[in-house]
Amino acid sequence: MSREFDAIVVGAGMGGLCAAAYLVAGGKRVAVVEKSPHLGGRCSHRVRQDCIVTTGALMIPMGSNSAIRQAFDALNIEMDMINLTGKMRYRLAHGDYDISPKGGGLLGMIEFAMQDQLAAAELHQHIISALTTWTPLSSITILDWFNQYTSCEEVKNLFQGYCAALMGINMHEIPASEFFSFLKYHSKGSQFGMARLGNAHMMGALAAAIEARGSSVMTQTPCRRILVENNRVKGVEIKNSEGQGEMLTAPIVFSNTGPRKTIDLVGGGDVFEASYMAQFEKDNIDAPIMHASFILDEPVMAGFSGCMVFGNTKNLIYLEIPSCISPEISPQGSYLHTAYGAPADAAHPDLDNEFDTMLAELEANFPGVLQRAQFLVKAKHRGESPGMHRWVGRGMPVNTSVIGLYNVGDGCAPKGTIGTESAAASGREAANMILG
Ligand SMILES: Cc1cc2nc3c(=O)[nH]c(=O)nc-3n(C[C@H](O)[C@H](O)[C@H](O)COP(=O)(O)OP(=O)(O)OC[C@H]3O[C@@H](n4cnc5c(N)ncnc54)[C@H](O)[C@@H]3O)c2cc1C
Repeated sequence: MSREFDAIVVGAGMGGLCAAAYLVAGGKRVAVVEKSPHLGGRCSHRVRQDCIVTTGALMIPMGSNSAIRQAFDALNIEMDMINLTGKMRYRLAHGDYDISPKGGGLLGMIEFAMQDQLAAAELHQHIISALTTWTPLSSITILDWFNQYTSCEEVKNLFQGYCAALMGINMHEIPASEFFSFLKYHSKGSQFGMARLGNAHMMGALAAAIEARGSSVMTQTPCRRILVENNRVKGVEIKNSEGQGEMLTAPIVFSNTGPRKTIDLVGGGDVFEASYMAQFEKDNIDAPIMHASFILDEPVMAGFSGCMVFGNTKNLIYLEIPSCISPEISPQGSYLHTAYGAPADAAHPDLDNEFDTMLAELEANFPGVLQRAQFLVKAKHRGESPGMHRWVGRGMPVNTSVIGLYNVGDGCAPKGTIGTESAAASGREAANMILG
């Protein structure tokens, strides 16, 4: 006996649930199978010491162009978010720069970094040209691109912080074209925010809406195999809630497990056409990230309810104080802080030592913090659960050479997208291929 569906989605991360939402809105009957008891994958949360602590993402796109927002809209549900658009603070060696909520922040940021209005205006003009006339190619990195126009280290430190915090890898690793694609994608009415009651709550709302339309979201249901016959997907074998093996059949399977694991689940690379595997091997490299969440009895910065990006550090890239953004995140008088770090060389990370450097940089920026902090999470993400499954610009296509088999998630980021947005946008792209 096997149950039949129009489509099966393996994994209930942002990519899997958004893909399912698009398919359900298009009239398909879908089964989502998730191995863990939790929804959302790296965009979820756990409760620790009565605090809502993220498993990964904090800064979530929520503007009308966002594929995440559009997945929620497709099922007519609200995203319960606190809008943080424009609430960015950049820290450089000589001080902090707060983006103006009124916009126009790019020139101001560059002027602040360069401390020279004329040089800043010139560099700004080159960036505007790259956004509007000639888009630089991927033959050079964004660091090479800046080097041709400026020798100012502070402005490069500013953009290094921006790249590592917002794009997941470093300036010397991002092709110039990808940097500008990212800026363009995020310049059109883009908004971002933090889930008011935590990511799992937000993802749970999406799952509930999928189920309310007659589809199923099954947690604690690992997929053991994706079944392929004569180059055509047939369904999946799962371990069901009674612990027994069961077949689910469908002509379409979306895997949200990452391109590498998808290959394992179908039984190996031989199942795919050679050019697909060559592309997979060529750019098979993830973006590691480090995460420290801790509580203090007062925030490290008074009155700060935004996102801080560091341009004065090697590994520490980003800090938010979720308790100052949403009071529901932690008990009164207890302030949850979340800091992220990126390896200086994402291809050759030394996460043990670099995690220590990240903490030392936290201390250098906020003296006394390590002694007062109670740590809830100290995590080094790579392998199956990295910052992103593949570097920006190196994503796999969502469709595969196996008929009916698609990948959704941050391993197949559409151009200009990263992180949660890339996961949702890949789900939108794959669903559009099926729904037309
Ligand atoms: C520390 C950290 C900070 C980050 N910060 C941000 C941020 O601020 N903003 C942002 O946009 N992005 C951020 N990201 C990136 C973002 O979290 C990810 O890009 C995004 O959540 C990935 O979603 P996904 O759907 O591709 O995969 P995942 O979230 O990994 O989901 C995959 C799901 O598949 C399930 N699964 C795997 N194998 C099986 C199987 N065999 N059977 C059934 N289920 C299976 C997993 O349990 C999981 O739930 C961050 C990531 C990390 C780690």
